[in-house]
Amino acid sequence: MSSMIIDGKKFAEEIRSEVKIAVEKRINKGLQAPGLATVLIGDNAASKVYVRAKHRACEEVGIKSLAYKLPASASQTEIETLVAKLNNNPEVNGILIQLPLPAGLNEEKVLGTLSVEKDVDGFHPINIGRLAQKGRESIFIPCTPAGIMVLLEKAGAKLDGAKAVILGRSNIVGMPIALLLLKANATVTICHSHTPDLASETRQADVLIAAIGQPELVRADWVKPGAVVIDVGINHVDDPSTKRGYRLVGDVAFEEVSQVAKAITPVPGGVGPMTIAMLMRSTLHAARLADKLH
Ligand code: NDP
Repeated sequence: MSSMIIDGKKFAEEIRSEVKIAVEKRINKGLQAPGLATVLIGDNAASKVYVRAKHRACEEVGIKSLAYKLPASASQTEIETLVAKLNNNPEVNGILIQLPLPAGLNEEKVLGTLSVEKDVDGFHPINIGRLAQKGRESIFIPCTPAGIMVLLEKAGAKLDGAKAVILGRSNIVGMPIALLLLKANATVTICHSHTPDLASETRQADVLIAAIGQPELVRADWVKPGAVVIDVGINHVDDPSTKRGYRLVGDVAFEEVSQVAKAITPVPGGVGPMTIAMLMRSTLHAARLADKLH
């Protein structure tokens, strides 16, 4: 059996063009373009790349983006003052604090100062709290998990009553995707570094989400035949045969698992492109929310 490859790049492009059309319509109606402010603190190279990619995506879909940079030496008060200023700026509909913050800063406190209505990354404690509660809806959902839910839908995965196994319990991927799958009526198992036998858990999964950052850990014999497999991992492995000297692989051994799974995301080109597309969608949502509030 060979899997359906879930083409995240294509679905992300579709979402971006939907957002672009919606933004054009807003502007034609005389409404302001949605605005996204990014806050980058310190010099983390990967963070700089992600923030640049987010600004490029904004430009492509017509979202106004504002870049704020603070040095790694910025104090907690300076950051919170900036966030308060952005909370009160009507041109800014969404605020994205690029994580991780440099050591010594209190991430929870920074995220807690965001306006809940501008928290496009969905990390404010109220948004995450609502996600964790039955019968409540958060205003925003973290972008990577939101993108995964779209990919599962595109793959035709049946979630209600399915057994979902998540590898990883981070605040940004593992835990929120577990909460979303629970809301979709899956029976959810969350595995982490203290789980004694990962493979015995993953073999039971109708839906398997791998988000641990361990190159190709998930092998074919870890996967139930016919499962839908979402590989969130992005790992650099040395490869002297390539120009860059490395290649990107996921947490799943793609070649062999694609012989067993019903559907699988590739790395790159699976979950990755969806994250930024969902951020664009969330920023549009934030602008629509602001229209109603003001
Ligand atoms: P974190 O490092 O924050 O969390 C990793 C999780 O995996 C933790 O819960 C950890 O367990 C668990 N874990 C790590 N190693 C093992 C192991 N050997 N066995 C079992 N569990 C393990 O990572 P993130 O959630 O931020 O990211 C995970 C991966 O997804 C990374 O490769 C990252 O690059 C990628 N990523 C991709 C994105 C995209 O857009 N495609 C977005 C975000 C992340 P414990 O809690 O016990 O420490």
